[in-house]
Amino acid sequence: MVIAANNEIRLFANRIIFLTHTTEIQSLDSATAGAYLNSDNIASLFNDDETINLYDDANHLICERENDFADEEVHLHTDITKIPKHNSYFGPWCIDDEHSMPTRIFASEVVKDGNNHGILLANFSFSRLEKYFADCKVGKNGFVIAISEKGEILYHPSFKETGRKLMKITDLGFDHFDPQRYEVPTPSFVKLKSGKEYLVNYEYSHLFHFGLLTLQPRKEIEDMASAIKKSSLLFLIGTCIVTCLISLWMFLILGKPLNKLIGHMKKITNGNLDVPEIRFGGRNNEVGQLSKAFNIMYGTIRRQFKELQSHREILEQEVNERTQELEEANKKLRIMSRTDELTELPNRRSIHECIENEISRISRTHKPLCFVFIDIDHFKKINDTYGHSCGDEVLKSVAQTIRGLLRNYDIVGRYGGEEFLVLLPETDLDGATIVAERFREQVEEQSIKYADYIISVTITLGVSKYDGRLGADRSIQMADKALYEGKEAGRNRVVVWTPDRTSEEDYRAAAIEMARHR
Ligand code: GH3
Ligand code: MG
Ligand code: MG
Repeated sequence: MVIAANNEIRLFANRIIFLTHTTEIQSLDSATAGAYLNSDNIASLFNDDETINLYDDANHLICERENDFADEEVHLHTDITKIPKHNSYFGPWCIDDEHSMPTRIFASEVVKDGNNHGILLANFSFSRLEKYFADCKVGKNGFVIAISEKGEILYHPSFKETGRKLMKITDLGFDHFDPQRYEVPTPSFVKLKSGKEYLVNYEYSHLFHFGLLTLQPRKEIEDMASAIKKSSLLFLIGTCIVTCLISLWMFLILGKPLNKLIGHMKKITNGNLDVPEIRFGGRNNEVGQLSKAFNIMYGTIRRQFKELQSHREILEQEVNERTQELEEANKKLRIMSRTDELTELPNRRSIHECIENEISRISRTHKPLCFVFIDIDHFKKINDTYGHSCGDEVLKSVAQTIRGLLRNYDIVGRYGGEEFLVLLPETDLDGATIVAERFREQVEEQSIKYADYIISVTITLGVSKYDGRLGADRSIQMADKALYEGKEAGRNRVVVWTPDRTSEEDYRAAAIEMARHR
């Protein structure tokens, strides 16, 4: 508003200066200049309460712009002789005693051919500025006051109702108010005489000797502040609610599905492939696409896992079958390694294991154990007469006969070519002799058919009892000695080695042998 007012003053000054440059004014001719000043073109540029007077250099009035207020003594408020005669001059604001519109004298030299001819004097009426103040609004109930350099009020909104009156700014309650130096700390509240407090702002233009005060009621400011505070609070609460809702929304669309996804992944990582596929309500956003990708990946893993599992089952089955076959083969091998192929009796190695077992048993039970050593008589002759395979048949037949006569816990094994060894646990020498005799009789009585031949064989048997002092090998040796004696005596007989026949020499040799063995 200050800018608009200043522009208005400047415009007025320029117009007057312009007039001083016109030939009509410079003629200083009363008729020419008077007609020019009162022509419509020029008259329309000035308000009705504005006068323009032209004087010569002796201060005689040459002409004037005619209007309702033609009395220059009243309106010019100045002594023409005291106005500086060179350049332009703006006088101070004047308010006359009748409280008419404030006015300022503006004087401009009339210069022609470098010489001063006279002076053009005009008054600038405040009415030019009043329209700006009337339109001015400061908040709802605020207002603007214009003051002169002397602190006289040029404009006050109350003038509209009460009419103009001569007032000083100090009349309103501003103490020690110097219009040119007054400064308001920002923000500053001033209490006026009316008792109302206003927030005041002040600006003074030294160029145009014109001050502007804006006043806004404190209550209005406070109401505004509390409204701003309220709306700020509401905004803050609103922002918080929106933030919470967004967070909740984010959690629902992102946090929850991602947590579910992580849970599924953990289960799958731990080998649980029974978890259901993830469903996020058919969303087509990133989360939905993530769940779709996850389900595809999960399906692939599950399919591959099943394939792997079935492969593994097949492989396991094959391994089991092979293991079973291997075990059976091993078992067969074990049996074969312990069995004589021809007679299917335990072989010599196996019978020695059986002897060890029996000896360790009788060391606890102290029961007797007897050995029967059997050798087929003149077996070589059978081979020679009927052939080797016939000899084999004879061997098998004798083995079967002997086995058929044994108790469950007796053991017979093939000890050598046509030699057999029988273990008779819990049997003393007498019992063993009876059993041996039964073997001999049965073999003698049996007829072996081979091709067109019927063959009979006899056996010679040596019987001994296990003697702990002699050990197993020497005890069997005693049976062998008895057998040898049977052969010497004519074969087909049982010879018993009674313990009393064992010499001290035998015992000593056995003791040395056992000590060395240990
Ligand atoms: P003796 O009455 O003195 O025992 O006479 P022998 O002919 O039975 O005894 P000898 O030791 O002279 O002969 C045993 C023979 O047994 C020699 C060997 O060829 C034969 N023989 C050994 N093992 C087998 C076999 O597995 N099958 C066959 N057919 N003959 C065997
Ligand atoms: Mg022999
Ligand atoms: Mg023989």
